[in-house]
Amino acid sequence: MMIINSIDKLRDVLDAQRANHKTIGLVPTMGFLHQGHLSLMQCAKRDTDFVVVSIFVNPTQFGPNEDFEAYPRDLKRDAERCDSVGVDVIFAPEVSEMYPEQASTFVSCEGAITRTLCGASRPGHFKGVTTVVAKLFNIVQPDKAFFGQKDAQQVVIIEKMVRELNMRLQIVPCPIVREADGLAMSSRNTYLSETARKEALVLSQSLAEANRLIQSGERDPEAIINVMRKTIETAPSAQIDYIQIVDGRNLEDLKTLKGEVLIALAVKIDQTRLIDNLRLTLPA
Ligand code: AMP
Repeated sequence: MMIINSIDKLRDVLDAQRANHKTIGLVPTMGFLHQGHLSLMQCAKRDTDFVVVSIFVNPTQFGPNEDFEAYPRDLKRDAERCDSVGVDVIFAPEVSEMYPEQASTFVSCEGAITRTLCGASRPGHFKGVTTVVAKLFNIVQPDKAFFGQKDAQQVVIIEKMVRELNMRLQIVPCPIVREADGLAMSSRNTYLSETARKEALVLSQSLAEANRLIQSGERDPEAIINVMRKTIETAPSAQIDYIQIVDGRNLEDLKTLKGEVLIALAVKIDQTRLIDNLRLTLPA
């Protein structure tokens, strides 16, 4: 496995693979890798011949009061984990390699789709995401790129960007990987104290509760959200950012549950903002 920091060097390596008719898979990450990330790499290994994992904590997707500086980083451990699942290249550029000059060119998905859910409390976040992902797509030119459903809004926005800008690759969404007790894996879980870690279970528990209600026939979003809110409020330090039930294709709020349903939430436990979601397909 190679660790490459330079865009030119990476392009040389990938050109040689393409000359040999190898398909290329890309897994974009911000590092501090866990089993959720590794599952994307395993999908990429299965689906493509040559797997590139990017590890880049992208400053432009963090707000001014967010955790860019504090975000956990450990390239040595990440490299061991990538190697263990057969990744071919880690692309780990410095910020100066990705943004050598004051940027004036951005890729921005506009409209309600980026203003709802996480977009409402993280203005500018998705512009940072689409810009860096478009740059990674231009650098790597993958046949397929693998993203986790953990960031459900991100998947919908990136799929839209790829369609609308006629990018020549396939986006492959991969399922959420959870800890044994249900907590969705996240690099940010490392911020949680022992107490907060226990409280954080209310996110997945509230989704399980929503699922039970839906299976027993409930179709009213307000009724489901109220039950979820009550569950989350049992955690003393929980502050709800949002709980929403939206159409899984365009992220518009649903008045009644039918078709592609996405139940998504963001909750601060102590100072740590966590997200989780559940996707369901119901009769139309
Ligand atoms: P991040 O490093 O948090 O930017 O995540 C990089 C990729 O890994 C994104 O596509 C995430 O959606 C995905 N990912 C993060 N956590 C999980 C998880 N628990 N299960 C599945 N995919 C995940």
